[in-house]
Amino acid sequence: MTVFQEFTEMANRFSAVNLGQGFPDWPAPDFVVEAAAAALRDGHNQYCRAAGHPLLCEAVAAQYSDRWGREVDPTSQVVVTEGATGGVFTSMQALLQPGDEVVLMEPTYDCYAPAVEMARGTVRRVSLHLPGWERGSSSPVGTAFGVDADALAAAISPNTRAIVVNTPHNPTGRVMGKADLDAVAAALRKADALAGPEMASRGGCVIVADEVYDELCFDQENFRPVASHPGLEDRTLTLGSAGKSLSVTGWKVGWAVGPAPMVAAVAAVNQWTQFCVATPLQVAVANALGAARARGADSLTFFDQQRKAALARRELLVSALNDSGLPAIVPEAGFFVLADTAAWRGQVGRKHYEAASPSRAGCKPAGSPVPDDVAFCRFLTEEVGVTAIPPTAFYSPATEHLAAPLARFALCKQESSISEAGKRLRRAA
Ligand code: PMP
Ligand code: GLN
Repeated sequence: MTVFQEFTEMANRFSAVNLGQGFPDWPAPDFVVEAAAAALRDGHNQYCRAAGHPLLCEAVAAQYSDRWGREVDPTSQVVVTEGATGGVFTSMQALLQPGDEVVLMEPTYDCYAPAVEMARGTVRRVSLHLPGWERGSSSPVGTAFGVDADALAAAISPNTRAIVVNTPHNPTGRVMGKADLDAVAAALRKADALAGPEMASRGGCVIVADEVYDELCFDQENFRPVASHPGLEDRTLTLGSAGKSLSVTGWKVGWAVGPAPMVAAVAAVNQWTQFCVATPLQVAVANALGAARARGADSLTFFDQQRKAALARRELLVSALNDSGLPAIVPEAGFFVLADTAAWRGQVGRKHYEAASPSRAGCKPAGSPVPDDVAFCRFLTEEVGVTAIPPTAFYSPATEHLAAPLARFALCKQESSISEAGKRLRRAA
């Protein structure tokens, strides 16, 4: 069971406000729902092209051609995946041979390591810079959680087949800057220098860029697509998801975009695992993406409006956390806010440490104690009525102590949900 299942189930059991799992708790936008209804009515109900419905591949190619400032070919450079989770899984199946190494940067989204291991690859982990914020006070994420160039370089070996870069980042809400991507480009050069002929013949080391929160930067000018960075253009497979950008996480429509050989390899895996993704939803996303990028009378796009609304919810959540003595690390993007929970630790009782945590089974050494953040998130759900995610789920056993004083709160919830959570937190503070 994943940490998201564990804590959503707990939130439901205790009728807590669920600021845990990252799904919007508002209805999907009308134009998105309408696009699905129209696709169903228009008869898009049978299998489609396995690598992706041509309409969706064209819509995605148009979006990335604009973003990257170079032509993306819809037929050879886009493959539709079952959400970004499917994109992570199939890209690892496509890229890896047993013994290949994949570098992950901690904190790291929870599905990467299992995807590497199921493809019989080996995970190498490096830590993002330790938080630069002052403990006990609220501050912008700023340069905290940036790429540590030396640590990243040290993790590269002749067997490095991929480096996973997640920007905007879950759970920190940080957007990778120039220095971060320079460090990634330097690591790639090192991998090229070390690669033997067999690795080189397979294309060498590549970057898998998980950019599912690409349309959710509070200042969109800050966003630097990995595949636009000098030295990374021809070596990056970029993953995206309609779940985040269009508020339909249950649709599981995602895509991988990049160099044709990598896209063909992912498509080759997909044809045997899923064949195609739900046809009507692909057509709906194609139409909705086009509509979401179009400027309205106020010259704003749907994505611009969505960013403004997300910023207002971020302010509401950050104030609620700060007022309650849980100083927030203010994110630049995405669905989440990390908060420092140290001041509340005295309230967490022994009972919250007692039961084993189902999401840790198989991921952490058997018998390892329940960490402070899991106990805190149980306490918060059961006794305060607010659910957050314990971020040790994004760390390995050797490093999870770094996350123990933190909790992750979702801002992708209606203002009424965040206000109610704020009321409960302030009361308990
Ligand atoms: N990558 C990251 C960083 C995510 O946060 C998520 C889900 N929130 C995913 C991938 C998975 O996306 P999907 O729901 O499209 O599978
Ligand atoms: N990505 C979501 C989060 O971080 C969860 C997605 C899932 O439950 N698979 O909350």
